[in-house]
Formats: sequence, structure tokens, C-alpha cells
Amino acid sequence: MFRRRVLSWYRRSGRDLPWRRTRDPYRVLVSEVMLQQTQVARVLPAYRRFLQRFPTLRGLARASLGEVLREWSGLGYNRRARDLHRIARMRSSLPRTVAELDTLPGIGTYTASAVACFAFGESTAFADTNIRRVLGRAVLGRTATDREGVELDRQIGSKREGARWHHALMDIGATICVASRPRCEVCPVRGICNYRGDERSSRRKQSPFAASDRRVRGAILRHLVGSSRGATVAALRTGINDPRVARLVGALAREGLVEVSYGSVRLPTR
Ligand code: SF4
Repeated sequence: MFRRRVLSWYRRSGRDLPWRRTRDPYRVLVSEVMLQQTQVARVLPAYRRFLQRFPTLRGLARASLGEVLREWSGLGYNRRARDLHRIARMRSSLPRTVAELDTLPGIGTYTASAVACFAFGESTAFADTNIRRVLGRAVLGRTATDREGVELDRQIGSKREGARWHHALMDIGATICVASRPRCEVCPVRGICNYRGDERSSRRKQSPFAASDRRVRGAILRHLVGSSRGATVAALRTGINDPRVARLVGALAREGLVEVSYGSVRLPTR
């Protein structure tokens, strides 16, 4: 009954998103990597732009990392772009199984499972934040932990319609079963849901220190995107006006996101 209600709600009300209209593994991978830490509304234009510029894995491999980072600019968490670029340089095509996908740079078990399901039709259990919240509230009366979410998905998920099932739960979690004030009155599983409405959010907040490091890292990369010749650390520190610039340039260089040569910092040219 639960599964039937979810799937028939999706037929009527699911979101029509461009990455759901394709089974091209590369396009599915790009969308999943973008969606790892970015909201759908911001991913939509970035996804279209990125695929126009790099329509295939081969095209991405031919580009320099600097070009890829330029195209990624605005999405943040630039390691994702570096990892996609690394994958493109490592492989002429993407593997099909969760186990193989899981070995690729920056691809954890969740992304590997999502790509295996959405691109290759593999029947596999996985749960993002939205899925954990919907399944957890409906069955346990509270948001499920990572492990519980995957287990619930394994037990009650649709094996035959895995892609539609996961898309449906993601949509219900994003639009109806939202973290605070879920709209139970329009939910397809109201009446068979165990949520009591007294949940306290258990999400851990990112520390202010880590959040602001991320802001400065983003500012450094934005500066470099606008300058093909690069900039000195001193110029970056003056422009960004933050004492962490030198340390974070070092961290970005170790991660391969910038090149430092003779005191000049720039986006990678290879
Ligand atoms: S009935 Fe309410 S709490 Fe339960 S899954 Fe639907 S929106 Fe979430």
C-alpha cells in the first residue's frame, strides 16, 4: 500500500527534471555530483551550462582542470569538479555496478548507488536526506539514521521501479515532508504514517569555522576565475581581506585545485 501510494503520487505530481529524462551515465553522474551539496534550483542552470560546454566524458577529459573549474564557478565545493575531471581522465566510459562506481574519486556509496540505479537500472537500496526523512517518519515516527534509511529502503523499496521509487521519495521529502512543518494534509502516505510531529532536528550544523573557511576558499577561486594570469598570494589577501588566504591557498594547491608557481597562484592549466 505504501509503495503503491508513493508511486502513483509520482505519476501525477513528480518533478520533471532534465537529468530524469536521460539514462546517459555521464549526464546522470554530473547531476548527482552537482546535487551532492547544492539545491535543485541552483543545479538546473549549472547542469545545462556544464553539459553544453562538456557534453561527454571525453569532452570533459580533453578540457583543462582550469576550464572545468571556470564552468563550475558559482556551485561551490570545487573538489567535486576536480573529481569529475579526474574520473574523465581515468575512464573512457563509466562502470555499471555500485562496487565499481564506488571506487571512483569523490563518489561515495550513495552517489554510486544513485548512478547505478538511475543510469543502469540496477536494483539497489540507498537513501539521501529526503529519503531518510520520509521513510523514517512514516515507519519509525522520526527521521532515520543513514543506516536505518538504507535498511528501510531495502525492505520496502520497489525493486522493479527503483528509479521512480527513489525520485518519488526525493520529491516528497523536498516538497511535502520538509524538515520543519511537513505538509501532511497533502501527503500521499498520510493515514499510514507514524510521525507524531514532535521531532527535534538532529542535523549537525557545520561549525562556523569550517563554513567560513569554505567561504574564503570560494572567494579565492572566484578571484582566479576572473584572471587568466593568476594573482599573487599578497594580492589575493588584499582583495579578499582575510588572514586565512595563504593557508587556504596551500590547502587548495595540495588538493590540485590551484597551481602555485614563483609566488603566483592560478587555476590549473593542465
Ligand atoms: S504524513 Fe507527514 S510526516 Fe508522514 S511522510 Fe507524509 S508529510 Fe511526512
